[in-house]
Amino acid sequence: MARVVVLGAGISGHTATSYLRKYLGKKHTITVITPNTYYNWIPSNIWVGVGRMKIDEVRFKLAPRYKKWGIEMIQAKATNFYPEGDAELESPFVEVEYTSEEQKGQKEKVTYDYLINATGPKLNFAATEGLVPGQGGLTSVCTYNHAQEAWEELEKKFEKMKAGEKQTFVIGTGHPTATCQGAAFEYILNVAYEIKHRKLQDMAELVWLTNEYELGDFGMGGAFIKKGGYISNTKLFTESYFIERGIRWIKRAGVKKIENNTIYYENLDGENLEQKFDFAMLIPGFSGHGFKAYNKAGEDITDTLFAPNGFMKVDADYTPKDYDQWSVNDWPETYQNPTYANVLAPGIAFAPPHSISKPMKSKNGTPIFPAPPRTGMPSGVTGKITAQNVAEWIKSGEPQFKHRASMGRMGAACIVSAGFGMTHGTAATMTVNPIVPDWEKYPDWGRDITTTMGEPGLAGHWLKWLMHYMFLYKAKGRPFWWLIPE
Ligand SMILES: Cc1cc2nc3c(=O)[nH]c(=O)nc-3n(C[C@H](O)[C@H](O)[C@H](O)COP(=O)(O)OP(=O)(O)OC[C@H]3O[C@@H](n4cnc5c(N)ncnc54)[C@H](O)[C@@H]3O)c2cc1C
Repeated sequence: MARVVVLGAGISGHTATSYLRKYLGKKHTITVITPNTYYNWIPSNIWVGVGRMKIDEVRFKLAPRYKKWGIEMIQAKATNFYPEGDAELESPFVEVEYTSEEQKGQKEKVTYDYLINATGPKLNFAATEGLVPGQGGLTSVCTYNHAQEAWEELEKKFEKMKAGEKQTFVIGTGHPTATCQGAAFEYILNVAYEIKHRKLQDMAELVWLTNEYELGDFGMGGAFIKKGGYISNTKLFTESYFIERGIRWIKRAGVKKIENNTIYYENLDGENLEQKFDFAMLIPGFSGHGFKAYNKAGEDITDTLFAPNGFMKVDADYTPKDYDQWSVNDWPETYQNPTYANVLAPGIAFAPPHSISKPMKSKNGTPIFPAPPRTGMPSGVTGKITAQNVAEWIKSGEPQFKHRASMGRMGAACIVSAGFGMTHGTAATMTVNPIVPDWEKYPDWGRDITTTMGEPGLAGHWLKWLMHYMFLYKAKGRPFWWLIPE
């Protein structure tokens, strides 16, 4: 009997857990370590952040599902990794600290045969001075609680505008190397929709603030897209959305500090500039969780398991190279740690080999460019193939790793939806294939132009809505859930 321990119950970890249960049956033990009692369908937090959905529509309690599936759940956070065990314990283990009310702070050693680290990113608000959601009009939509607070703050601003007070809304990235521009893009379109819906456009200034060199970069170096039969690009696509909605933009901006409703940022020209706001939603920098790792002798081997940014090292090529030398082949396929074969890291938890957007530095030497995004689809897909590989390994006794999913070979769809309801929404639907451009295979456009597309319209909005219900249905493990793709 094998014991698989999954750290994290987000999109990647929960997907891996569901498939492990399906493939392994109840003969083997699956243990999930999660600090949170809920599963959150994060993409729909945007709708909580504009008051269109309630928190309970985007989350559900994990414990009853896991109990039904025969999965052990420990409400705790992993802190230290011991992939060789220690002086007392022969077996590899992770040290965890309980987060539940009853056992808060209590520590335990959780042993494993296979470890799936799907802990996603640490939302590193502290990396930007003054970036504190809930303070002085600053908000976030990265968690459901943040999104609820964002909506409460937004409502107050609507009231002020109704009373004749003009308000400035700044949405975008809150750190010079933040990623997840897609989420911020979706939020600003939704905020713009809600303002228009209330006929308050004349009272609002909307500003997009981004570390992207050009709009539409999205941390993937932008994309050439097929649109209405023509080849266009994501820069034009994004700018046209903003122009139509009267959204002003500030690009190439690295946010350094926020104080007294003022955002202090540096741009690539090395200028230190300011932007006032009444309401701001800025995505923080992402990092690993600051895990530590030790060998059997108790020596620190954190560098063996984790990259300097705190994300886990996997089967990527981390050799330092110039931007022009990077290749899609550098991207991981199996998410297996090269030193400890039974430790894997799907989703956002793995360290990317390099940025996809061109690294840029300001005249003062500050890096200002987006880190690579890892959206829901690759997070789900990598969670699934990790589960498949681990299950086959357990069943056959041999590591086979037949299932592979590189971001350099996998496509992704992103639907940025704005508005609400069957007739009032619109969406920017984008597909890219592959996510990481492959200039060798596709020398003209970097990607397969027949499947890399961008289309605006109501149909995309319906799809996003459908996806909300479909993915929650799947996550709840309802009948035939596995037929729904990641
Ligand atoms: C507002 C917003 C909107 C988005 N919209 C979209 C979208 O429309 N489409 C799309 O494709 N992607 C979207 N994304 C991105 C998508 O949410 C991520 O790609 C996805 O959540 C990553 O999955 P993950 O499992 O790797 O990480 P997460 O979903 O972040 O899950 C990580 C899990 O690890 C747990 N954890 C953290 N620390 C520990 C620890 N120490 N020990 C144990 N567990 C721990 C967390 O509690 C969590 O359960 C959006 C992101 C945001 C923030």
